[in-house]
Amino acid sequence: SIAEKRLLVTGAAGFIGSNFCHHWLETHPQGTLIAYDALTYAGNLHNLEGLGKYPGFHFVHGDINDARLVENSLRSHAINVIVHFAAESHVDRSIHDPDAFIQTNIVGTHTLLKVAKALWLDGPEGPIPHRFHHISTDEVYGTLAPRDPPFREDTPYAPNSPYAASKAGSDHLVRAYQHTYGLNTTTSNCSNNYGPFHFPEKLIPLIIVNILHNKALPIYGDGQQIRDWLYVEDHCRGIAAILERGQEGESYNIGGCNEWANLDIVQLICRSMDDLFAGQPRWAIQYPQAAPALGRKSAELIEYVRDRPGHDRRYAIDARKITRELGFAPAVDFPTGIQDTILWYLEHPQWWQQVMDGSYRNWLDQQYGTE
Ligand code: NAD
Repeated sequence: SIAEKRLLVTGAAGFIGSNFCHHWLETHPQGTLIAYDALTYAGNLHNLEGLGKYPGFHFVHGDINDARLVENSLRSHAINVIVHFAAESHVDRSIHDPDAFIQTNIVGTHTLLKVAKALWLDGPEGPIPHRFHHISTDEVYGTLAPRDPPFREDTPYAPNSPYAASKAGSDHLVRAYQHTYGLNTTTSNCSNNYGPFHFPEKLIPLIIVNILHNKALPIYGDGQQIRDWLYVEDHCRGIAAILERGQEGESYNIGGCNEWANLDIVQLICRSMDDLFAGQPRWAIQYPQAAPALGRKSAELIEYVRDRPGHDRRYAIDARKITRELGFAPAVDFPTGIQDTILWYLEHPQWWQQVMDGSYRNWLDQQYGTE
């Protein structure tokens, strides 16, 4: 294991990457961490607010396809660990516009692997201790029928969406760089995350924000698509466990053992929201347009819309390996995590408002002119 881990975190301004940077620096306040991000529509510098107080924190605005900038960033702080989150991540977008998914998820991952190999394995002083940790998804395994056993690490890959296929491609490249060149890699395949900083186009924040605006809650198809859900902080703890104790070349599933149908989640959010507004009058004062402030049950807003093409019915993940081998298990139960997530959105309106009205991108415009 590497005595002093000096991290470059790609996709650090996104949902999970930013949660990971907060988690890592809270637990390693003297550590070195370069947050590297292209700031696409999904990247938001506000997600990294507060991290400037850590002496080893740096931000680099860059694309993972820019090999020179990646190399300079790795050299600048003698980085020996890459934690690779950067990706195009939204399945619906991958259906309408797959090109960016191929470019970032496959070609971009390969660029990172190439640079890491050149620096860490092929440098003038010979190999140096390092780790390349790749973040992937359970969607690479395809879909499950209701009674199928959950995905294991050795379940064959069968990706169905362009997003899942691009992630599967990147997983294979990571595997090949370990197998062929001896790059010290690990991979984690995680189920659906939820929690703070989740972009409001995704199911859980979308439902919360729509209830606050008394707007329809769209449910794809019959709402019976089943997913496993994990609180993002638990995911970050799982990744940290792999960085500490994970074995070279291994992949680890990370999941919540927590299968929910989409419709049931929406109903859970509706109930939690109604209870929160009933329990604390200040929310109705702060959000007078919210359904419960207007005397409606939030669930009255549910509206069924046409299903997404090729929508996988069920994902479920067998995450026993990481518990058995690395002693990691998730700590946050779902109703508590949902309640905490709702409270976070209620308490941070400026965060989601600037995401929804696009003003979170002003920083980019100030730096580079309108893009
Ligand atoms: P996100 O879309 O919120 O964040 C992605 C980040 O990557 C953004 O900050 C974006 O600006 C950045 N980025 C995109 N293209 C880039 C490029 N070419 N160069 C540099 N940066 C770039 O995504 P997320 O939900 O935080 O997901 C992070 C990772 O976790 C992804 O690899 C995703 O596949 C994986 N994952 C996500 C989930 C989930 O539930 N969200 C579950 C399992 C795995």
